[in-house]
Amino acid sequence: MTTVIDGKKAAASVIEAVTKAATDLEKDTGRRPGLAVVLVGTDPASQTYVASKSRMAKECGFTSVQHTLPEETTQEALLALVAELNADPSVHGVLVQLPLPKHLDSEKVIQSILPEKDVDGLHVVNAGKLATGDSDTGLVSCTPAGAMILVRSIHGRDLSGLNALVIGRSNLFGKPMAQLLLAANATVTIAHSRSRDLPALARNADILVAAVGRPEMVKADWVKPGATVIDVGINRIAAPERGEGRTRLVGDVAFPECAAVAGAISPVPGGVGPMTIAMLMANTVIAAYRAEGKPAPKF
Ligand code: NAP
Repeated sequence: MTTVIDGKKAAASVIEAVTKAATDLEKDTGRRPGLAVVLVGTDPASQTYVASKSRMAKECGFTSVQHTLPEETTQEALLALVAELNADPSVHGVLVQLPLPKHLDSEKVIQSILPEKDVDGLHVVNAGKLATGDSDTGLVSCTPAGAMILVRSIHGRDLSGLNALVIGRSNLFGKPMAQLLLAANATVTIAHSRSRDLPALARNADILVAAVGRPEMVKADWVKPGATVIDVGINRIAAPERGEGRTRLVGDVAFPECAAVAGAISPVPGGVGPMTIAMLMANTVIAAYRAEGKPAPKF
């Protein structure tokens, strides 16, 4: 029987633990975790993401502040806001929603966030800490941190002897995911658009993680029987069967056919997606504990 990994349930239990940790911190120090989310412009998808992050932060008992800036905001004005949030002791996490409008330099903005408030885990200091194994002071990028919890739900914390393949090498997901798997003792391969014979690499993987952005690219004959398949892709495709002009979300994995071969598989939607926002909340509460000089909870 294939296990369909329930990301909603896993995310709900992270949120429950975060909420408890936030309550405990407030009782102990009088300080609530604070998350500041910055949105520049009016991109509808970004507006939806930011609204759900702010809502979830409130549900977790955080102080949640949203800064919405106009599309024509200058780099200087955005950097000035980040500097203000960096200096505000009631703000423990700063998130600048990406993508930013084209005239802004995202990389400069992200690197201007204090590493200890970088709850998206995208600062080079946090990437470096993950690479060097410093989980006590670093913050890990939210989607890989969430995907790793799903992997752990199947295999536990020690992946000794298991082969893992991550398809995709982005700084946002592929590279940190590979680091997390390596830190858990898996033997890790990273594949990308220049890799040769991807199906053969995939068939060798006990843990197959796909983060490419190509709808249903991973087919059943790529999957080692019994393997764990984690699908990170979010792709919107036409769904004429639902009516004219309708669409649906699919991952990078052809779900029905791969589910027939895999031992465990995460669906899209309802797999990795819900974990991302849960780990953002986890990073914020971790940052708040550290800022108050308390040992941070582990998720
Ligand atoms: P990205 O920056 O576009 O990276 C895509 C990676 O896939 C690149 O490393 C690219 O290789 C590789 N690739 C492209 N075509 C390939 C092919 N034919 N064969 C093998 N590798 C190929 O994307 P990302 O930010 O990592 O995101 C990947 C997917 O995950 C997207 O669908 C995104 O929407 C989704 N995502 C989901 C969440 C979530 O919350 N669930 C969060 C983040 C991302 P090169 O480096 O050689 O170009």
